[in-house]
Amino acid sequence: MGIRENLLSFLDTIPKSVQLVAVSKTKPNEAIKEAYDAGQRIFGENKVQDLVAKVPELPKDINWHFIGHMQTNKVKLIAPFISMIHAVDSIKLLEEINKQALKNNRTIECLLQFHIATESTKFGLNFEEATQILNNPVFYNLNNIKIVGVMGMGTYTDDTLQIKNEFKQLVNYFNLLKDNFFKDKVSFKEISMGMSGDYKIAIDEGSTMIRIGTKIFGERNY
Ligand SMILES: *Cc1c(COP(=O)(O)O)cnc(C)c1O
Repeated sequence: MGIRENLLSFLDTIPKSVQLVAVSKTKPNEAIKEAYDAGQRIFGENKVQDLVAKVPELPKDINWHFIGHMQTNKVKLIAPFISMIHAVDSIKLLEEINKQALKNNRTIECLLQFHIATESTKFGLNFEEATQILNNPVFYNLNNIKIVGVMGMGTYTDDTLQIKNEFKQLVNYFNLLKDNFFKDKVSFKEISMGMSGDYKIAIDEGSTMIRIGTKIFGERNY
């Protein structure tokens, strides 16, 4: 099947209220263009160099999401155009995103990444670290970033109960942050969880944003 067919049949299986981030990492611009022509507007990349090479060649109304680990010194390269950064895990990174967003006269949406998987290789905060960021006085002066929710990656496993519990944990973190820090902020509403292998569980558990690569673009050849 082609990308267009993959995308359209995939969209048929998910609720309209769930946003799809089409993860185009390692895929050529022709593949992105095919999904774009089928109506997709949100794309996710995880490498700054790849992203900055692709963007000038592609339509201007694409919403680009950065889903990888963000290095502070590379924020300036994507600040002119990035819509959302999914994997924020420090106040230092938030300050840099704010600084570069301000330079570009923009606001950049951010998600706090939580460590919910058992794998130690996956990045992210625990709950206490997240509250430290949000209680930091520095945070209140960051007017060019907007924290719009949370992000997490489940363990890569066949144990669906485990994945389910990890996603429940992320939803729990979201609710606690909402109550304690974002009670009257309607913009704090996103729970980015679910990939090709676990998006059904993620949607059942309350995901608002799924990040799907393989099921749309096919396997990646690294
Ligand atoms: C690659 C990647 C995805 C998409 O993975 P698939 O299994 O191909 O759907 C989602 N989220 C992140 C953070 C990724 O790096």
